[in-house]
Amino acid sequence: MKYDAIIIGAGLGGLSAGAYLARAGRKVLVLEKMSEPGGRCRSVELMGHRFDIGADYFGKKILGIFSELGKKKELDPVWFKVIARHGNSSMTIPPGLHTFRDFRGMGMNAGDMGKLGLRTGGQIMFNRYRKISGYSELVNRITENGSLREIFNVGAFFSGNNPENMPSHWFNLVFGRTYGYDKPFIPRAGSGRLPELLASVIRENGGGIVYNAQPDRIIIRDGSARGILLDGREMESVNVISGTGILHTVHSLADRKDFPSEFLNTLGYYKEGFSMASVFTVFKKGAKIIPGAHVYAMFPAGVSGMFRTLKEGSFPEDNMFVISVPHAAYGAAEEHLAGTIKFLVPRGAVPREAIEAEAGRIMGRADSLIPGFSENTVDSRLYTPADYATNFGFTSSVSPVAESVHYEKMSTATPVRGLFCVGSTVLPVGGCTASSILSGRAAARQILKSK
Ligand SMILES: Cc1cc2nc3c(=O)[nH]c(=O)nc-3n(C[C@H](O)[C@H](O)[C@H](O)COP(=O)(O)OP(=O)(O)OC[C@H]3O[C@@H](n4cnc5c(N)ncnc54)[C@H](O)[C@@H]3O)c2cc1C
Repeated sequence: MKYDAIIIGAGLGGLSAGAYLARAGRKVLVLEKMSEPGGRCRSVELMGHRFDIGADYFGKKILGIFSELGKKKELDPVWFKVIARHGNSSMTIPPGLHTFRDFRGMGMNAGDMGKLGLRTGGQIMFNRYRKISGYSELVNRITENGSLREIFNVGAFFSGNNPENMPSHWFNLVFGRTYGYDKPFIPRAGSGRLPELLASVIRENGGGIVYNAQPDRIIIRDGSARGILLDGREMESVNVISGTGILHTVHSLADRKDFPSEFLNTLGYYKEGFSMASVFTVFKKGAKIIPGAHVYAMFPAGVSGMFRTLKEGSFPEDNMFVISVPHAAYGAAEEHLAGTIKFLVPRGAVPREAIEAEAGRIMGRADSLIPGFSENTVDSRLYTPADYATNFGFTSSVSPVAESVHYEKMSTATPVRGLFCVGSTVLPVGGCTASSILSGRAAARQILKSK
């Protein structure tokens, strides 16, 4: 049997490509190395609770995609608040009237707020940020306020990259215009609901998904993808879509010699951002969570300095961390809730004991975000970046980045005819769930147009 598309990887990118193609009547087969879909967007059972092991913060624009696929209602979004703290100042997202109070708490007067509004509006309305070389420079132009500057650096945590090296288009991501992260939600059933629903679209439209299947390689002949080799058996397909990351696709699943040198040189700029460690925690309701809040973030004094220390291979004295408590956002009735503390880990081989010690230090500081958090913790489990790779099958870095302010992503179409890359390493911008899903749709549209 010849497929219209064989898709490698059942992450959000691969699944959305498969969903759009299957709905258009194309014959698709998805091959996934793990025993379930979702990749870095998955919920797993630990200590008797469901935890989101990767993504747990979604922008409202994803809802438009699920609407197109007829699955928005089943996604059942729960809207939540984000509390970002720097020193004694806080900012709550989504913005509203309370934002004025937040700004006053940072020492800003009416004049400062007016200037901030005009400068930010100007950047957004006229896309001026595109002409500014980097993210840090842009933030510095918008506000002189030190606390606010650090809070605007939230994108750095998720790109795992020094804001000084981040391109200015991250501004649009952080401010919500690109994917709606200014009005975040989480599916009531947890992040794993997104891949589940995309996979159901594929199955309902006659497509196949095979788990525990890892192709040996992509077959390329005369500059065109012809199919894949699985357990030594050739499977024919007009198109091959890889959702496994552009570097892995080119260097491990294909052969460098099939690609022009200019393309390979551009690929050379891509890196993983810094990896994260997570402390999955079960805690009692006695901890004081703000109603409806799900994500709490603590910023250090000087995010750029923090990244420089991480890059040198050490934990900074004041490491940034995020606590996610989705069950509290749903208003769960249970006495015990699940929460996750995430923090960045230096590059290189960091001993487990050093990561454990850092987790302990951060746990001690968690009470400054959620009073009573450590005292009410009844169980916890640390997953280092190495544990992520072994147990969950992925690298715990949120976003693939180039440490360059000029960073632009590659297209979903590759120089090999019929070979597409989808997921967070290719267009559109950002390394998040929305960008992965949109890249899958983009590849599907290209394939559908070419027939
Ligand atoms: C800790 C963490 C927190 C995050 N938080 C957020 C967040 O709050 N909000 C947000 O929007 N984004 C977040 N992200 C990023 C988001 O999870 C990813 O951008 C998105 O899920 C990536 O989807 P993808 O399809 O590009 O890739 P992946 O999810 O990596 O999917 C790739 C799939 O391919 C499979 N695979 C790999 N190699 C092979 C092979 N050889 N054969 C077969 N299958 C293979 C993998 O098992 C996987 O299922 C987070 C990521 C991490 C790690």
